[in-house]
Amino acid sequence: MNIFSKEYAKSLDQQDELAHFREEFYLKEGRIYLDGNSLGLLSKRAERAVLDLLHSWKDYGIDGWTQGKHPWFYLSELLGEKMITLTGATAEEMIVTGSTTSNLHQLVASFYQPKGQRTKILADELTFPTDIYALKSQLRLRGYDPAEHLVLVESEDGRMLKEEAIIAEMTEEVALIILPGVLYRSGQVLDMEQLTKAAHERGIWIGFDLCHSIGSIPHELSNWEVDFAFWCNYKHLNGGPGSTAALYVNKRHFGQAPGLAGWFGSKKDTQFDMTLELDHAEHAGAYQMGTPHILSTAPLLGALELFNEAGIDRIRKKSLQLTNYMMELIEHELVEFDFTIANPRNDQQRGGHLFLEHVEAARICKALKEHGIIPDFRAPNGIRLAPVALYNTFEDVWNTVHILKTIMETEQYKQYKNERDVVA
Ligand SMILES: *Cc1c(COP(=O)(O)O)cnc(C)c1O
Repeated sequence: MNIFSKEYAKSLDQQDELAHFREEFYLKEGRIYLDGNSLGLLSKRAERAVLDLLHSWKDYGIDGWTQGKHPWFYLSELLGEKMITLTGATAEEMIVTGSTTSNLHQLVASFYQPKGQRTKILADELTFPTDIYALKSQLRLRGYDPAEHLVLVESEDGRMLKEEAIIAEMTEEVALIILPGVLYRSGQVLDMEQLTKAAHERGIWIGFDLCHSIGSIPHELSNWEVDFAFWCNYKHLNGGPGSTAALYVNKRHFGQAPGLAGWFGSKKDTQFDMTLELDHAEHAGAYQMGTPHILSTAPLLGALELFNEAGIDRIRKKSLQLTNYMMELIEHELVEFDFTIANPRNDQQRGGHLFLEHVEAARICKALKEHGIIPDFRAPNGIRLAPVALYNTFEDVWNTVHILKTIMETEQYKQYKNERDVVA
């Protein structure tokens, strides 16, 4: 069979052992959704979980905290348990709480402990902006000037980072390191194990932002001895817009007081003693602050079931097949149209999405949307395409590349302005 034919795409779908998960999601007829790395789709199970939770409120009122199928008081901890296979951490090392940004603030407030000449925070210039804003403000709160105390590892090509370059910046002045697991633009996977080892050899604590890696690649946070990590649950994990985020703290740090304290960081059995001395939990739960956002947490009960059934190794395998297939088709069909594949080619470094660069990227994305294909534009010239293992098909990939080819051949994109919308 000709590997560039549509029949070949269909034959890959027939061999796909995860194909049946597609029926678990709400997909729109005539639409190919490739933006699961920005906002994952709603699954029927996540919807069910939200409705069940609303009913527990209806039925139990205040007693919903301790009664019903999923008592709210223990929900944040319970969901940590359901993420074990995704993170390779223990249940006690994880808690579902806050947002990515607020969790980063919490973890920096807790783990940034400048001493002597070690006052700097090391991050990278390709990181998601909110992380940089949070780090700068944390430095200012401690009386340090970010211009001097925030060190950003530079990228040679503006797309990727070299682990050796990061390690070279792990000097005796660095107190803390914050890096992404997968870069949000190029989708590069950083070697978290190697970086953690290098940091620890130099006496530095290290934490990772897993927003683009959770649910997309496997992790072994405990084995790698990563100090802490944090992530959102609305991208690959399909927890819904603004769903409650999560964090991980390695067990050797248990017992340390949280930098930002609140009553939900208490031990469960003493929280309602209402004393004015915080008796903080001796696990990741200590890093919670106020009452959990139960309604924004509920979808995860359903969403995570799907991951545990499918298994992250099978998800990763299919994801690599999908992105690899898409790159092959792009190289075959779109050679003359000046696209640059700006994500890593090799499986080890490639995350869950592709990153194409093109000078007309903004309006090419608009043309794709007109054809029912949902990409993700990243200024100034990037198109992210995420064929997602749980709900995209090889035929989706084939159709996408062929529609993109038509758009380029007929120059349909020229009907649109080459600028981004408010939410790109
Ligand atoms: C999506 C994303 C965020 C978003 O932070 P929120 O607090 O959830 O808005 C942060 N960091 C990275 C790397 C992301 O990809």
